[in-house]
Amino acid sequence: MKFDKITSVLDCLNKFASHSTEILNIKDLAFEVELVLEEMIDMDYNGLFLYDFEDQKLKLYYARGFSEEERIEAERTAMERHPGYVFNSGKTLYVPDVEKDNPSESIDSKRSFKIRTRLHIPVFNANNVVGVFSIASTEKNKFTDEHIVVFSFIGNLAGSVYGHILNRSKLESSYSILKQARQEAVAANEAKSLFLANMSHEIRTPLNAIHGLTGLLEETDINEEQKKLITGLRSSSDGLLEIVNDILDFSKIEAGLMELKETEFSLQEVVKRVFDGFDYKAEEKGLKLQLIFDAKITSNLLGDRMRLRQVFINLLNNAIKFTQKGSVTLECKMISSNQEHCCILFKVSDTGIGIGQENISKIFQSFQQVDTGTTRNYGGTGLGLAISMQLVVLMGGLLEVRSLKNLGSDFFFTLNFKKSNQKSQLSVEAAVELNINFLQGVRVLLVEDNHLNRLIAKAMLGKWNMIVTEASNGEEALDQLKNQAFDLILMDLQMPVMGGLEASRKIRNELNLTLPIIALTANAINDVIAECIDAGMNDYISKPFNPEILAKKIIDLLE
Ligand code: ADP
Repeated sequence: MKFDKITSVLDCLNKFASHSTEILNIKDLAFEVELVLEEMIDMDYNGLFLYDFEDQKLKLYYARGFSEEERIEAERTAMERHPGYVFNSGKTLYVPDVEKDNPSESIDSKRSFKIRTRLHIPVFNANNVVGVFSIASTEKNKFTDEHIVVFSFIGNLAGSVYGHILNRSKLESSYSILKQARQEAVAANEAKSLFLANMSHEIRTPLNAIHGLTGLLEETDINEEQKKLITGLRSSSDGLLEIVNDILDFSKIEAGLMELKETEFSLQEVVKRVFDGFDYKAEEKGLKLQLIFDAKITSNLLGDRMRLRQVFINLLNNAIKFTQKGSVTLECKMISSNQEHCCILFKVSDTGIGIGQENISKIFQSFQQVDTGTTRNYGGTGLGLAISMQLVVLMGGLLEVRSLKNLGSDFFFTLNFKKSNQKSQLSVEAAVELNINFLQGVRVLLVEDNHLNRLIAKAMLGKWNMIVTEASNGEEALDQLKNQAFDLILMDLQMPVMGGLEASRKIRNELNLTLPIIALTANAINDVIAECIDAGMNDYISKPFNPEILAKKIIDLLE
């Protein structure tokens, strides 16, 4: 008998143990167990039951010496018979002589063979029974204590491999659940961003028309009463535009599409302009508005002044909104500086309602406000600080807050800037005087499908005495260009029949015209500037356009 030699037994066990880490599924495990037993002992009948935790029953993974029907029957009755007893009690069951010790069993057995010795060993994994290892023989008194020890060892090794297989499959299934959940979350987030972007785009278009038409209405002959109503209309449409722009910015940031521009600017000028814009609001509430600007900041800086301005506006807006009496201060302080760089601390302080410690962590999250009372009393969307934080982070800083309830708040951040060689001077931009007379008599082709937008643009261009011809899509524009000479084209991008990009390509490549084309863009989500240039356009302006900027662009291109 192979079992007689201790070295061969150990050799078999060693082989099984070293293989065990490579076993990845239950079928392979059953195969390895069967193999090790076969090598170890001449034995006709044995099998491995493992507990299926989903079906809650013992499953017989292999049954050496059994016919298929016998295997099915043994598995079906396992829980009620000896394997079930061993599984539930965790105790080894050895019947050395079945005829003597359990005569009824040998009689009622439907098997093709007669069992004389029966051994059932519990299979453990970390102190839990996870299966039963069953061995039988047609000879009585077949097994010794040594057999039982060795079989128990094999059973337990099989048990721990089974435990690993179960854990791995649990991990795999939780990983795949997590992976799927993540994919769904990413998709939902993308859909949300797209929805927000589309929605704000859709709202912006008619809103721009309201904005522009209100401006035109303001300049007509109106009485005092109408003037008041128009002022109300303008402030409502401005407020709405602000919210929509916030949503658009937020969705841009979320979608990772927010890119900062690096241009040269005078910090003093940016701060001063923002600050002056709040004068009226602060005065209305009886608040003292203070600006502390460090005289050491003398150089022009390189950075995205529009986004920096946006952060100041958000913080000052909040400071004034949440302060009933006292003061609001904007401070810019040089922290360090060398030839090339400087580090500046920005701080907006107020003496307002403050924020309780329990709410501090909430306020930078999107759509979060301290409480619903705040919403009712003060309005707002809860997006301003989330956007400001993201912008400051994009610029390389971190927006922080120190606040005490009923005493006031300090919002602050520091940023590093590259310095420009030029000295800072106030009102560089304001000094650019536009020679509007230059525009008189300039022949412009206005290509835009939305008739309200055309109406607004035409009124604006008409005020400068430009000669305006209209076209409502690219194809019409091409027809007009074949029949008439123009000095300039203002071209919308998205239009039915033929869009602005295609029309521009045709103007350059088929009509071979070189006159300047300025793109009118509304879609702020896609970076369309490169596409415009690629299609042969010279410049772009986003709607709603500021008349001064449009005039400047036209003059620059025609001069
Ligand atoms: P919104 O002001 O549109 O609600 P914000 O993101 O700008 O959204 O601000 C979120 C919340 O943080 C505000 O609703 C308010 O509860 C609180 N908060 C912001 N700034 C201040 C401030 N200066 N003083 C007190 N509370 C503030």
